[in-house]
Amino acid sequence: MQLQYDCLVAGAGMAGAVAARRLAEAGGKRVLVLERRDHIAGNAYDCLDEAGVLIHRYGPHIFHTNSRRVFDYLSRFTRWRRYQHRVIANLPRDNPEEVPARQTADGRFSFPVPFNLDSMKAAFGAGEGERLGRKLLDAYPAQDQVTILELRQNPDPEIAAIADYVYQHVFVHYTMKQWGQTPEEIDPNTTARVPVRLSRDDRYFQDAYQGMPLEGYTAMFRNMLDHPNITVALGQDVRERLDLSGEVLRFDSEPFHGAVLYTGPADELFHLTYGRLPYRTLDFRYETFPVDAWQSHGTVNYTVDGDFTRITEFKHMTGQSLPGVTTVMKEYSRAYTGAEGETPYYAIISPENSALYERYRALAGRFPNLHLLGRLAEYKYYNMDAIALRALELCDTLLKGDERHG
Ligand SMILES: Cc1cc2nc3c(=O)[nH]c(=O)nc-3n(C[C@H](O)[C@H](O)[C@H](O)COP(=O)(O)OP(=O)(O)OC[C@H]3O[C@@H](n4cnc5c(N)ncnc54)[C@H](O)[C@@H]3O)c2cc1C
Repeated sequence: MQLQYDCLVAGAGMAGAVAARRLAEAGGKRVLVLERRDHIAGNAYDCLDEAGVLIHRYGPHIFHTNSRRVFDYLSRFTRWRRYQHRVIANLPRDNPEEVPARQTADGRFSFPVPFNLDSMKAAFGAGEGERLGRKLLDAYPAQDQVTILELRQNPDPEIAAIADYVYQHVFVHYTMKQWGQTPEEIDPNTTARVPVRLSRDDRYFQDAYQGMPLEGYTAMFRNMLDHPNITVALGQDVRERLDLSGEVLRFDSEPFHGAVLYTGPADELFHLTYGRLPYRTLDFRYETFPVDAWQSHGTVNYTVDGDFTRITEFKHMTGQSLPGVTTVMKEYSRAYTGAEGETPYYAIISPENSALYERYRALAGRFPNLHLLGRLAEYKYYNMDAIALRALELCDTLLKGDERHG
């Protein structure tokens, strides 16, 4: 039987949905999207919980980009709610007697992250924080931020001490919770790059375009996939229909020569032939409270203590108007084992793991029409905008190739 599709896309997340729409629209291709979950939108999926609160099922997602192309492209499928993400660190006082500024009754306090001039005041007290802040501005007059490596290299011991403070109170414990390794074990250069902002700018992202889809991510994806040339099949694992064992790629047992864009895990596509690619996974614990708001910010990072990394309260981000009820979510990070129901979230980038990935990529390379696209297929962290751009650019290349051969 002749398949009535020109292209296959495995996965209806950002990579798959953007590519499917582009191929269907600009290329006039008939695209079949297979998604193994029972919903579209990949990890950006949002839905109402039992209390009616709009939650993000796979971790909080905030859209931000400097790419005009991506912003314009996605803006065709959603209007945006203006939202700029702000995050605070919540931590215990080292010495509760010492600095009473902004301390709460439980001996904890908070400050904006990334660490900025206001964080300095909260950490060291108003007067001392102001003085140290001025010292930094004098030392780095032409910069809007400075890394803790630069601070450490400064001959002034007070400036070097700020680097140590930030490292200890913002970075090292949080990184351990997130990755199960010290920052140095992961990559000594990451530590060097931790920024201190030389301003009071407390926006978590500084990109030109920031916001949340007004009706939510799932609605945006639904609009994107709503095209006469696109067919979406949910609950379908592409591996059950794709055969990569021979010289030619087969779909439903027939040779298939159209483009196949695979956005799932690279190792799973080849039945873990060389073993599993290592990932971190997350456990999410939700709690609903009978109050309008439970915490002051969309995300609060627990940078020093606790076994979870952060608490997210969705209503801050989504702007949902729902009086008297709110849902928060705690995130616990641990090693991914591949067990049923686990999601691989963060690729653990190391020379060894990258080498393993390259072996899988070489297997995929045997099929000229098979393209690995996305955070899982490319074993790489992408923000949503970055993978949307990558999907658009891959489609540009594929469509140009058609023009050349057409
Ligand atoms: C906790 C967390 C928070 C994040 N927050 C942000 C944020 O605030 N802002 C931001 O820009 N980015 C954020 N990201 C990154 C964002 O999630 C990614 O950019 C995005 O998910 C990448 O899209 P994707 O299509 O590559 O992958 P996914 O969204 O994972 O989509 C892949 C899809 O493929 C499907 N699939 C897999 N295997 C198969 C198969 N064999 N057959 C059929 N379907 C299959 C999966 O079910 C999934 O739906 C965050 C990531 C995490 C982990």
